[in-house]
Amino acid sequence: MNGNSADGGGLVVVSGPSGSGKTTICKALIEIPGVVLSVSATTRPRRQGEVDGRDYHFLSPGDFEKKVENGEFLEHAEYNGNRYGTLKADVERKLAKGLTVILEIEVQGTRQLRDSGIQGRYVFVMPPSLEELEKRLWARGTDSEEAILKRLSIARSEMDMAHLYDHVVVNRDLGEAVTEIRRWLGLEGRGR
Ligand code: 5GP
Repeated sequence: MNGNSADGGGLVVVSGPSGSGKTTICKALIEIPGVVLSVSATTRPRRQGEVDGRDYHFLSPGDFEKKVENGEFLEHAEYNGNRYGTLKADVERKLAKGLTVILEIEVQGTRQLRDSGIQGRYVFVMPPSLEELEKRLWARGTDSEEAILKRLSIARSEMDMAHLYDHVVVNRDLGEAVTEIRRWLGLEGRGR
């Protein structure tokens, strides 16, 4: 699959540790006309407010495994005890429309895409420091101390994989980080 096109469409892979702000950055990017998110499949339970088919396709472990066996994933990985995967058909359908498709995925998935030679633009969102990341995770107030320590340990190993990406953005200020990524993607002239 060719993830690049001359008219601004193509794949954009966005990763970064939990608390780096990557989800908020992706939400800002899909405000730009022609930019959409790929909807992944996952076995993790649905969180409050999440909608099946919009946020994720929520699958049973058995159904997820079937899709793995049928080769329906562009990449898939296990993260924090749950499985996640990018659905080839969803991405191909969006790319065929000339859209810019954002894959918000963790680093093992990126390694698979790189190993398969999937073309695209790969960007890593880095928190200013681990101390700042820890502060943000506490401030979010959604996790126990144990969960925060686990997230921090995952974050450390994810940050060690930043070399897999074409561009690293340090998210000190959300607006500046979005502007930087927009410029890097060549999307600054579009929309708001
Ligand atoms: P969450 O459970 O918080 O929605 O996501 C946990 C992690 O899984 C995040 O780092 C998110 O980017 C990643 N993720 C979501 N969808 C996919 C996917 O399709 N493939 C991979 N490899 N990671 C994913």
